[in-house]
Amino acid sequence: MLTLLNSYELPVLIAAGVYEKACRRLTLHQLDPAKFSPDPSKDGHKDALIAMYDQRMQIGRPGRPVYEEARNRKGKCPICGVGRVRQVDHHLPKSIYPYLAAVPINLLPICGDCNREKLDKAPTCYAEQALHPYFDDIDSDRWLRARLLTINGDGKPYEAKPSERPKGWRIEFFVDPPSSWDANHAERVEHHFSETYKLSDIYENQAADDIPGLELSFEEVFEAGGASDVSAYLEGLARTRAHANKNSWMVALYEALADHVWFCSGGFRQVAAG
Ligand SMILES: [Zn+2]
Repeated sequence: MLTLLNSYELPVLIAAGVYEKACRRLTLHQLDPAKFSPDPSKDGHKDALIAMYDQRMQIGRPGRPVYEEARNRKGKCPICGVGRVRQVDHHLPKSIYPYLAAVPINLLPICGDCNREKLDKAPTCYAEQALHPYFDDIDSDRWLRARLLTINGDGKPYEAKPSERPKGWRIEFFVDPPSSWDANHAERVEHHFSETYKLSDIYENQAADDIPGLELSFEEVFEAGGASDVSAYLEGLARTRAHANKNSWMVALYEALADHVWFCSGGFRQVAAG
């Protein structure tokens, strides 16, 4: 077994170099999986390489420090910024690229929710290359926004007037590409957000949990200074959160709510009630 694995040391090393270059050039979708896997005629070799990852990453085994290092790089998941890092994700899945099973720059710390969404997805075109926290500068541009929609009796969004009681409401998170991005990059971030990780679902749940906890503050601020003070209060919350991460779901949410006349005029009570 060990001799078999030793015989793959060089192909794995070469594969790691090719992979790193493709990460930098954003050409992961052009990599040929056949070059990242033993010859199919070599029965059992692919499974042996993947098993090596699984065995070596177990507690007390020699590969465990690599796994722990990846897992502990950040407390919070670098993909969603919400969950705790609990697992290690293979940026290119080990089932398709077994040579990359134990290559450290292919191992990303990730939370359980994001890992469940991603599964074994591999990029087949430029846009399908998920953002890579080690190579992509994800946080220098502001790209995450949210909106609050009030819904009428026909289930359609409409602009509710202050003190009106709409039939329902909905908070949506979406990618708002800055003008400096080209269309390819915008499409790639959109795919990362909506397809690979379905981050809007995670953020909508967070928002629904968050607003009831703020209701009392909204009420106090509203009684003292009305809708404009609620709006200013929310802007302050957004600014505070933006220090740590300008694409945090909280920044997007508080900004959207600060701009929403109905919400700031007392609509927050209906939203907080769920
Ligand atoms: Zn996550």
